[in-house]
Amino acid sequence: MSRHHETRLREQIATLGRSLFDRGLTMGSSGNISVRLEDGGWLMTPTNACLGRLDPAEISRLGGQGEWLDGHKPTKEHFLHMAMYAERPQSQAIVHLHSTHSVAVSCLPDIDPCDCIPPLTAYYVMRVGRLPLVPYHVPGDPTLGDAVRGLAGKHSAVLLANHGPVVAGKSLEAAVYATEELEETAKLFLLLHGRNPRVLTPEQVAELEARFPRD
Ligand SMILES: [Zn+2]
Repeated sequence: MSRHHETRLREQIATLGRSLFDRGLTMGSSGNISVRLEDGGWLMTPTNACLGRLDPAEISRLGGQGEWLDGHKPTKEHFLHMAMYAERPQSQAIVHLHSTHSVAVSCLPDIDPCDCIPPLTAYYVMRVGRLPLVPYHVPGDPTLGDAVRGLAGKHSAVLLANHGPVVAGKSLEAAVYATEELEETAKLFLLLHGRNPRVLTPEQVAELEARFPRD
């Protein structure tokens, strides 16, 4: 891992964190971002940090076992990221937000826990796919990590009940774009709720998945 590459990733985390914050996708000190380093470690946003005001130099660096090496102390939700990476060696970055519309969907009583949002648009299918619901756990409880690990092998994104989405991508940009696609589709789903929308057919979904495989 070149020093230059790590510096660039730190700047990218701060830039994209600020972009998410400025557009209201995350608020207060909620939400966290991580990126895999070539040496087997990770960069992760610090605990109690506002994604809108990250200092690239203060971003936490973790070693290959997830141990904190330097920078500020990592987010308390670090285990969510580690659970996802453990099952997804191909994923290079993870974004976890408490974004409003996605959280709203995670609170609905009548969603399908195997597939929380129907295939409303092609880009949702291409970037997110099937979104399973992870049952509610107290934030920070290690059992939440176990529940995420059970689903992460087959899904690049999961939705934590009454909490928010965890989204992996083959790059930081891809993970951020997928998180934004999920949030916008959650908004569409809420707008259409109770109106019996036409969704993509299983054949249309299968065609998209064959042509545009996710990581
Ligand atoms: Zn959270």
